[in-house]
Amino acid sequence: MIYLDWAATAPPLPEALRAAAGWHANPSSPHPRGRQAAAALASARQRLAGALGVEAAEIVLTSGATESNNLMLQSVLTLIHPERGLPRRDTLVIGAVEHDSIDGPAALLARVGFRVRRAPVGGDGAVDVDRLRALLDERTYLVSIQTVNNETGIIQPIAAAAEAVAGAARRFGTRMLFHTDAVQALGKVALPLGPHVHAASFSAHKVGGPRGVGALWVRSRAPVRFMQAGGAQEGGRRAGTENVSGAAGFAAAAGAAMPPDERAAAAATVMARLIDRVRATPGVVTIPADREPHDPRFSPFILKLAVPALPSEVTVRLLGDRGFCVSPGSACATGSRKRLRVLEAMRVPAEQAAGTLRVSIGPTTTAADLDAFASALRDAIRDAAGRLTARPAPELART
Ligand code: PMP
Repeated sequence: MIYLDWAATAPPLPEALRAAAGWHANPSSPHPRGRQAAAALASARQRLAGALGVEAAEIVLTSGATESNNLMLQSVLTLIHPERGLPRRDTLVIGAVEHDSIDGPAALLARVGFRVRRAPVGGDGAVDVDRLRALLDERTYLVSIQTVNNETGIIQPIAAAAEAVAGAARRFGTRMLFHTDAVQALGKVALPLGPHVHAASFSAHKVGGPRGVGALWVRSRAPVRFMQAGGAQEGGRRAGTENVSGAAGFAAAAGAAMPPDERAAAAATVMARLIDRVRATPGVVTIPADREPHDPRFSPFILKLAVPALPSEVTVRLLGDRGFCVSPGSACATGSRKRLRVLEAMRVPAEQAAGTLRVSIGPTTTAADLDAFASALRDAIRDAAGRLTARPAPELART
């Protein structure tokens, strides 16, 4: 099997598994085992902070990026006033192609009365910063734009977007938070944690760490309170017994993944070759159609394709039969119409949208793997086309 679904989850790294093994005491317990666990947690936090280039105290460990994103967006609930109800700053602005773990909580907040605006994207899936700026006003509480899209690999203009938000906050004489879901950026492209970015979400399992652990980085002094109440863990920002094993495994994986430069350069080389081959294959288009080999707009770890003549599920099965693991799109949107949300925002034609595939690679993917994939894709399309024409519909066959 050749695994080309790294954006869904990465195979665990041996050093992450080793680091995660053996922690079972509660780090809040005062006995020796508890103190050891607390020390392991502190050292994991420190190491993770080092990999991200932030302060250890700014890291809130969570159960994954879905929780990090929910924690961030739902923080607006802390502004509700017992008598006056919804706050004056009642508006969230999110990108039109965000992951479901941003779009979902935003939709829930909209149901209870908050205002949610979606910043439109161009045909390449990149947020249009001028149109984003036009959505900001004195009611804006938070803007959340992902760093890298998990389906297409587009790298969003985070520095420009965060600067536009900071400028608008100054103009309206208010505060606006800027958050980025950086899950698909960690270990892959430069992290955009510049001065106008206040918070970012991360997930361990996308970089070879354990599943079920993630982090929300929140800049110190950013004016934000969270809704997860209970114990005093994570500085009172996220209550709940800490996942020491997960944190240790996450820190080891993040340490191995950062900085991304060399691995990104290697990925860019093999991805460019795949894009060249795919563009020469009849019946296949890249999404967007003008994505060039070495296109700097995109993460070199993700490629979105369409085989318009075949439904995604058929192509995924035919490739699976030939030994390749690829996804139709985002794993979190599997089996739902939500899968088309991102493609609709990019105005991908319906006949292409029904036949898309996501190929996502990792640091151990080779040029030979991708050559084999390109050949298998060409053969699968040819065979399927042959079968479709060789077997006429039954009523036609009778005449
Ligand atoms: N955001 C993005 C961009 C993702 O790709 C994912 C993983 N599917 C998530 C958030 C959710 O991460 P997790 O699996 O850790 O909840």
